[in-house]
Amino acid sequence: MWIQRLTLTHFRNYKAQELSLAKGPSLLLGDNAQGKSNLLEAAFLLATTRSARAQTEGELIHWDALTDPQPVARVTAEVERVDGPIRLEVVVAGRPRDGERARVPASKRLRVNGIPKRAADVVGQLTAVLFTTDDIELIGGGPGERRRYLDVMLTQLQPAYARALQRYGKVVTQRNALLRRIQANEAAPDELDFWDEELAGHGATLVGDRAAAIAALRGLARDAHERLSGSTEDLAIAYEPRLEGWSVGDASGLSAALRESLASGRGRDIGAGMTLSGPHRDDVSVLLDGVAASSFASRGQQRTAALALRLAEAGYMAQIKGDLPVVLLDDVLSELDEERRRAVLSSLGDWDQLLITSADNDRFDEGLPGSPAVFRVEAGTITPR
Ligand code: ATP
Ligand code: MG
Repeated sequence: MWIQRLTLTHFRNYKAQELSLAKGPSLLLGDNAQGKSNLLEAAFLLATTRSARAQTEGELIHWDALTDPQPVARVTAEVERVDGPIRLEVVVAGRPRDGERARVPASKRLRVNGIPKRAADVVGQLTAVLFTTDDIELIGGGPGERRRYLDVMLTQLQPAYARALQRYGKVVTQRNALLRRIQANEAAPDELDFWDEELAGHGATLVGDRAAAIAALRGLARDAHERLSGSTEDLAIAYEPRLEGWSVGDASGLSAALRESLASGRGRDIGAGMTLSGPHRDDVSVLLDGVAASSFASRGQQRTAALALRLAEAGYMAQIKGDLPVVLLDDVLSELDEERRRAVLSSLGDWDQLLITSADNDRFDEGLPGSPAVFRVEAGTITPR
């Protein structure tokens, strides 16, 4: 699929921007702080209904609009998909504020083809993969980064996963509160039975879907990495579920194993005042030539591995959806040497649409296949070049 037209109104540093895009690669070039990342953020917002980087949605509204009687940021897109065109709209409405820019209370309205929708019905209408320079944390950061990688991907792909994830998170919070009350002798341990049952049910969806995704991602990531690194290094990822007594591949015994692990860990959980096993503690191991990439890989190697995970994500989305996702690459060449840059550009893959930003014009002179459309991004205005 691909975005044919994108409209930004009072979104970040864009006041009113209409952008017609083509299939294939598009380069968005501009100096620092001109709005390149903001544009990709807008596209990703339409795919996921959430900003990949804003702390609060009020941040998305252009500062100049904050004194309007009704400050509003609006992003719309016309998207071409294999099953026909679709129009998406996200509106972030804030309360007028003169004071602190970042702390504007805001609410969000979503529409598909002009009809108001809930977030769950909008997520995944447009599928997109976003690579940012922060993705190095996918390799070097904690398990939470890798869980988020899986969650953002699977939420776009499977509504049942999105529901289970939301409920699971709430149940963990409630179970943890109960554990602390039991610890303080304000509640009885058997009150946990209900929450354990809930956790096992939703948790089984999460673990099952993650296991299936990683089984497919493993080969996709290895292949992508082989191309990106010029086949000098081997990337291997594996699911590391926090679930004793269950092995990846045993899909049928999943909720039983979760129930069992919650029961056997009950004393420990009460002592700790929190739930210590389950998919909220999962991880994905990333090995480069057999050793942990988090500890031993260089910055450039970590960056390449992170990009391989994103391209694998895009490949998995294509498999599941039967339609290629839009691939958004923010500053993808930074920190790479010339050889790696060339390998990356020539092996990004054949996506319906690829939007690439860079602060450096010269880096694309060689390498990127096809003839990309080139845009100049300057102070919140995008012009074709
Ligand atoms: P770099 O090359 O450094 O990554 P960039 O072109 O990707 O730069 P962006 O991250 O898109 O830059 O941000 C551009 C500018 O947008 C920033 O200078 C920031 O101050 C501004 N900005 C962010 N939010 C808002 C907002 N709500 N209203 C107005 N301006 C904003
Ligand atoms: Mg940027």
